[in-house]
Amino acid sequence: MSREQTTGRFGDRDVSIDPAQAARVLAQIDRDELVAFLQALVRVPSVNPPGDTREVIRVVEEKLAAAGFATLVVGPTPEKQNIVATLQGQGAGPRLAFNAHVDVVPIGEESAWEHPPFGGEIHDGCVYGRGAGDDKASVTAQVMAAIALARSGVPFDGALLVTEVADEEVGGAAGAGYIVQNGHVQADFAIVGEQTFGQICVGERGSAPVKVTVFGKTGHAATPWKGVNAIEGIARVITALREELWPRLAARTHPFLNQSTATISMIEGGVKTNVIPDRASIHVDRRILPGETPERVVAEIREIAERAIADVPGLRVETSAPGGRLAIEADPQSAVGRALRAATRQIGKEVVLTGFFAGTDGKHFASAGIPTLIMGPGDPATAHTPNEWVGIDEVVEATQLYALAALALLGRKGR
Ligand SMILES: [Zn+2]
Repeated sequence: MSREQTTGRFGDRDVSIDPAQAARVLAQIDRDELVAFLQALVRVPSVNPPGDTREVIRVVEEKLAAAGFATLVVGPTPEKQNIVATLQGQGAGPRLAFNAHVDVVPIGEESAWEHPPFGGEIHDGCVYGRGAGDDKASVTAQVMAAIALARSGVPFDGALLVTEVADEEVGGAAGAGYIVQNGHVQADFAIVGEQTFGQICVGERGSAPVKVTVFGKTGHAATPWKGVNAIEGIARVITALREELWPRLAARTHPFLNQSTATISMIEGGVKTNVIPDRASIHVDRRILPGETPERVVAEIREIAERAIADVPGLRVETSAPGGRLAIEADPQSAVGRALRAATRQIGKEVVLTGFFAGTDGKHFASAGIPTLIMGPGDPATAHTPNEWVGIDEVVEATQLYALAALALLGRKGR
């Protein structure tokens, strides 16, 4: 599918927001109900691993079913469950999917927490706990926004799908990947909730991890001239990568996604203090921009590594690439991009287009050809740390943004 087709779907859709309809929808957002729901989600320890999401998905399903959504709970294993809840519009139109994840990372050392990690306690206008921000604040905002649209009775076309999933923290194959690939989500557009301060992220970088191994010849360390030292070989590779690749990557920039990067994140080599090492490896964490591919990244690193050891007889290099994924990028001019901007302006917030710093479940939607934006409440710096928190005002704001974006994209004009 060409870029033109994927971003141009419903390209002429009127996404203006009727102020009277907006007021009706926003009036249905109940702050106390929203906070209670977020607390209920935080109080279910859906820690991944193991990633059992049955109970937290049950809480989400109960809420959406009570508001009249058709709910489907599915997963590849009995423990890893996902929900797809649908609110069908009155006529034909775009189908918008909300997505966020219900699994959370482990709490780490419990003594580092000032408030109980699964307490959902409120202090100074913030909800505390593991997952409060990442990503149950987004789950809450999406569910409450969809319910507000349903309760408002404002007429709309197409469909609103609320998808809350397992498994994001380990890659999402059993979560977003599962529901997209198995056809449980038929969507024209997606908005993925992660911590973006309510700003619109048009994409995220891809990833292309590379392992570089240098092989030499072992021998007794007392006679180093009889062997070929692989650690000294990998040192040459590291220096060459720093001198040649790093400046190249700094020059590869993107308006929203900063720059292409690489860092050496692991090193291993040697078997004993008095043995010449015949093998040494590094792992390169490589984040890529649109236009770069994992295959080309490996070839580029291999070429530099081979040249770095070329004048040392007896050394050779091997590279391997354990997985990898392309960058994702949505056109901010797509109908969903225009809708989210209209929603942002409607609540008087400045429109900032940016990119998400890390990976999200957006890749699963984007790789199916669905234009996907990332927007949600909270500060990414609190994710995966002790004392994770989210501001209640931020969650309310994101709820308004999701609700108004859905209204802009799906709402019938002038009724
Ligand atoms: Zn997350």
